[in-house]
Amino acid sequence: MNEHDSERVAGLLESHGYTRTTAIDEADVVVLNTCAIRENADNRLYGTLGQLKRTKEQRPAMRIAVGGCLVQKDKQLVLAKAPWVDVAFGTFAVGELPHLLGRRERTGLPAFEFREQTDVFPSALPARREQPFHAWVAVSVGCDNSCTFCIVPFVRGPQVSRPMDDVVKEVRRLVDDGVVEVTLLGQNVNTYGRDLDGRALFADLLRALDRVEGLRRLRFTSPHPHDFTPDVIDAMAASPSVCEHIHFPLQSGSDRILARMRRSYRIERYLGWLERIRSAIPDIAVSTDVIVGFPGESEADFAATLEAVERARFDSAYTFQYSPRPGTAAAEMGDPVPPDLVQERFARLVEAQERISLERNRAALGTRVEALIEESGSRKDAARATGRTRTNKLVHLEGRRRPGEFVDVIVTGAHPHHLAAVPA
Ligand code: SF4
Repeated sequence: MNEHDSERVAGLLESHGYTRTTAIDEADVVVLNTCAIRENADNRLYGTLGQLKRTKEQRPAMRIAVGGCLVQKDKQLVLAKAPWVDVAFGTFAVGELPHLLGRRERTGLPAFEFREQTDVFPSALPARREQPFHAWVAVSVGCDNSCTFCIVPFVRGPQVSRPMDDVVKEVRRLVDDGVVEVTLLGQNVNTYGRDLDGRALFADLLRALDRVEGLRRLRFTSPHPHDFTPDVIDAMAASPSVCEHIHFPLQSGSDRILARMRRSYRIERYLGWLERIRSAIPDIAVSTDVIVGFPGESEADFAATLEAVERARFDSAYTFQYSPRPGTAAAEMGDPVPPDLVQERFARLVEAQERISLERNRAALGTRVEALIEESGSRKDAARATGRTRTNKLVHLEGRRRPGEFVDVIVTGAHPHHLAAVPA
C-alpha cells in the first residue's frame, strides 16, 4: 500500500509540472513516504531528516515533505523533532501534497494536512508507475480487524471500499494505457464491499475485472483467512485472468498464539481452506506471512508453527521476528520471548521453509510456464532477463528481453527463491 501511495505521490507531482530526480542535491522537493509496519521506520525517518537538515542549511529553498503511516501516527512527535519539515501529509491526504507545497510558498509557513478518513481514493490520483505494464489498484483502505500486533487500523482507520464501478473503470483505463497485470490492494481484500453493500463483494469484483478485455493477469493481496469465503475460490477458478497464486497469511500455527494475536481463525480451519483452494485450483502457489517470537510464544507454540508450515507446504513465506509496535495491544502484553530464542526459532523456520520452497520449485522442473518479463537484464548479469510466472515465482532467463513481454519458457533449474528457464 505504501509503494502504491509512493507511485501516486510521484504521479501527482509530475502532473503538477515537477520532474523526477534521484539526486537529492538537485531536488527542489524531497518527499519521504513512511511506513510504520516495519521495524526501525522511525529511526530511519529521523536519521534521514537529520541529513536533510544539513542539505537544507546549504539550500534553504529546498522543501522537505513527509507523509505516510508513521507521520499519521506520530504527527506531533515528527513535527517537534524535525521543525525544519515544510510539509506533512497524513495517509488520507496524499492528494493534497501539491496544494500543501503551494501553500508553503504562499504563506512562508509550514503546511500540514491530516484527516481522519479518506474522501479521494489514492488509486483515483495520477500515478507514475514503476513498471508500465503493471499497476497497483487499491480497492479498499483501512481495516475493521484488530490484530494485536498490527498498527494498520490506527493509521489507516476502518475499512472504506471504493465503488466497484470506479475500480472497473480504473482497470479499463490502465489496460488502455498498456497495463497487462493488475494487483488489487486492500488490508483485507475479501471483505471488500461490506461497507458499501452490507455484504462482501470481492468475488463479484474478481468476476467483473476478469471481463476487462486485455487484462492478462489479475492478482490481489491480502485476504484474511477468517473472512475467506467459498465464492472467492469459485470466482478465482472461473476467471482466467486471476493468477494461480494466493497470499494467505498464517502468522502462527499455534491456536493459543492466534488467539493472543486476535486472529480469529484456528489452524485446522486455515489448513482446511488451503485444501479447498488447492482442490479447486490444483496448480496454485501459496505464500504466507509468519511471525516468530510473539509475546508468550512457548517452544510448544513454535513447534505448532513448524508443524503447520510442514503441513501447509507453502511455496514461499515472509518470515518476521516479532517486534512491538508502540500503540498496539501486543506491545502492552509483556512476556517477551528472549531475543536469542527468537533468532534461533527464526533460523529453524527459515531453514524448514527454504527446504519446502526448493521442493515446491523442483516440482516445476521440465514444465512449460508463461513468464512476464520484468527486467531486461538482471543486476548481476546484463544478459539475463528476469520475469515472473503466473504463480508469482521469479524466473531467470538467458538473453535480453523487453520488460512487459510474455515469454513461454521451460523450467530448467530450481532454487529456493527463483527458477531458471530457457525459452520454450
Ligand atoms: Fe492488520 Fe491485516 Fe489484522 Fe487488519 S487484518 S489488523 S491490516 S494484520
